[in-house]
Amino acid sequence: MNENCRRVLSDVEAYLDGDLDESACRRLEDHAAACASCAGDLERLRRTIGTCRDAGREPLPVAVRERARAAVRRLLERDGMSGAYGRRKG
Ligand SMILES: [Zn+2]
Repeated sequence: MNENCRRVLSDVEAYLDGDLDESACRRLEDHAAACASCAGDLERLRRTIGTCRDAGREPLPVAVRERARAAVRRLLERDGMSGAYGRRKG
């Protein structure tokens, strides 16, 4: 996982808070398509969250949001960088 990967995962976290726009969401999909180390993880996340188009239309259920957020955090922690990106919301 590199700097780019971590930024994408941070974007996912913002997305889970409901403030990621469609272009940022598309960046996630582009990264998943281009990055072998993230592809599997992001694909799982996307299956949890739904597609970007769906996400823009209606807010995520709290349970889904929490599950996806926990998954993102696990990925960041696995990389040993949770401290550097530990900016918490809520
Ligand atoms: Zn990546």
